[in-house]
Parts: sequence; C-alpha cells; structure tokens
Amino acid sequence: MAFTNPATLQFQQVSYGYGPEEWAVDDINLVVKPGELVVLVGPSGCGKSTLLKLVAGLIYPTRGTLLLDDMNVARKPPEQRQVGWVPQSYALFDHLTVAENIAFGLRMQGQPRQQRQRRTEHLLDLCQIQALARRSVHDLSGGQRQRVAIARALAVQPRVLLLDEPLAALDPQLRVSLRSSLVSLLREAGVTTLFVTHDQTEALAIADRIAVLRAGRVEQYGNPETLWDRPVNEFVARFLSRAEIVEAHYVGGNQVEIVPGLIAPIAPQHLNAHRNAHTVTLALRPTDLQVDSTGVMLVVLASEYTGSSYLVYGQLPNGPRLSFMSSAPVQPGETVPVQVRPEAKVAIISA
Ligand code: ADP
Repeated sequence: MAFTNPATLQFQQVSYGYGPEEWAVDDINLVVKPGELVVLVGPSGCGKSTLLKLVAGLIYPTRGTLLLDDMNVARKPPEQRQVGWVPQSYALFDHLTVAENIAFGLRMQGQPRQQRQRRTEHLLDLCQIQALARRSVHDLSGGQRQRVAIARALAVQPRVLLLDEPLAALDPQLRVSLRSSLVSLLREAGVTTLFVTHDQTEALAIADRIAVLRAGRVEQYGNPETLWDRPVNEFVARFLSRAEIVEAHYVGGNQVEIVPGLIAPIAPQHLNAHRNAHTVTLALRPTDLQVDSTGVMLVVLASEYTGSSYLVYGQLPNGPRLSFMSSAPVQPGETVPVQVRPEAKVAIISA
C-alpha cells in the first residue's frame, strides 16, 4: 500500500499581506517536485510560516496561483487539499493512545475499522513506533511524540506534508541525531515535503532543495551544494555559510589576493564568469581558512566552541573581518596567523 500520494506543488506569483500595508510574502515562485524535500529557511519574520499556512489553506493568497499537480487550490478550504500539517508543538490528542492518534483522521473520514487498523499498523511500522501503540501520548519523549505526529499526518495519505520546525522542541543533541532518522522516514514515505527551519546547518544537512527567504521573498532556490558553492548574493552567503564578504583582485591563474600575503584559490565555475573583472567580491567561509604560520596575522575578536573545533571571529589590522576554524582555543586580543586553505574553492558573489 502506498503511504502517500505525492503531488507537485507550485507557487506562481503568490503574494499575501496580513494587512493592506505590507506583503508578508511577495511574488513567490517555487516548484516542489513529487517526493521532494524542500526546506524553507530564513530569519524570523521572513515569511516561512505564512507559506505553510497558504499551502494548508489556513489563509488564501492575496494574489497568485497555488497548484497541487494541475489543480489551483488557492481558494479551496483545507479539507479539499489533502495536505498534512505537523505543527511545532505536534498538537497530539493527549487523552488518546498513540494508535488512536494515528487513526484519528481516518475515523473522521469514515473509513471502516479494518482498513483503519491496517493503515495504522503500516504507519506504526514505518515510523518504528510499534512498541508504543497502546501507550498514552502523555508520557512519550520529544522524539517519540514527533514520530506520532508525523504518522498521524501521513495517515490520510497527504499529497503534501508541511513540517513547521519539527526539531525545534527537542534538545540540541537529540535534534542532530533525530534529524537523519526523520529524513530517512520522509524518504521512505515518499511524500512531497515543505520543511521550515531557521537553522541553516539543518537546511544544508537534510534538503533536496533549499529556498532561502528574506523579507517575504525568495533570495535563492537550489540544491544545498549549489547554494553553498554559488550563493547569488551576500545575504545567502552570510546566512547559509557564515561567510564574511571581502574584496579581492586577480593575481593570475585561479588566484585572487585579499590583502598582501592572503591569496585565495577560486572555484573553477566562477573563473570564466569573472576572469575579466579587476576586483571581485568573495564569500570567505570559516572553513576556507586555517591557522598557518606562513599566513597573515588576524586579531581575535571572539570565539565559539562548536563541538570539534572553535569558530573564531577575527579581523585583519585595518582590514576586513574574517572567521576561521581553529582546533586549539584562542583568546580575544590574541593575534593568530591565518591562510586560505590550498584546497578551498572560494565563492565569488556577483550581486
Ligand atoms: P517566519 O515564519 O519566517 O518567522 P511569518 O510568516 O510568521 O515569518 O511572518 C512573516 C511576516 O508577516 C512578518 O513580518 C510577521 O510580522 C507578519 N505576520 C505573521 N503573522 C501575522 C499575523 N497574524 N498578523 C499580522 N502580521 C503577521
């Protein structure tokens, strides 16, 4: 039995304003292919939840077309869309068991008991929560609650599944370990998914494609590798990879110079497009730089422990800020020699 019935989801010139003054989302054009996992990412207030509400049918676009396959659902009520929604809080029915939560939508649809049971069994299986079937959802862990919420949303064979920060309620360690099993589950279910997060690391880790949003508009839409290697503007580069934006000029071959002694190799895909430009704008990511005794001296402004190494915020004397990764702890005010990694493929920003 198919778990889902995945649709193509298309936003065509979709805008929505809560009031007459401002668009919360503005001229959105996105195509999500059947079974694709698309992550909407961007800072708070950029319009992520508004896009989910538009797909769920909780609000209707002020302008534009919203297609599920070839049907415009822009003005259809939620119950005519077959869209599954997993809210941030999971919103489980606390007085029901796990199995009853999952079967709830099927009961509402009036499905016969046997069919309901079969489908619920399949979903318990898919989400690997068979052992919890008869437990009250009351005393489940965060990760278990998340699985029940997803199983419940998948029960009615949604054509699109909407996940609103599904990992936000979990503690940070659990979040990382649960996200890969969540992605495996979504892949197995084969459902078209819109997944909202404000966490760029999460977006890069799980997405088939990422839409980076800012102030209600899509800044860039593409697969994680493309967004990482070829960010279209400063915002995408800073947001996705914590890049610092610096000016540089060509010194021949595939190399540019940021300041005397700090040379960066350029990603091959950028060379032809920019070979004739005298100066270029670079997105230098912390992982592009390393501590190297032959490098230029940076003054340390601050540093953060990231688990395996330190993310260090530094500044060239009288020059731009640059961040780098260090395996050893460093103190603010210290100077550290830094060089661009020879194997780095630094990105050029065109806009
Ligand atoms: P995100 O989910 O990315 O944090 P939202 O979609 O919630 O962003 O918000 C997009 C914009 O719409 C913001 O400027 C926000 O203030 C505004 N907004 C969201 N919900 C409402 C509402 N119910 N009434 C008025 N404005 C709202």
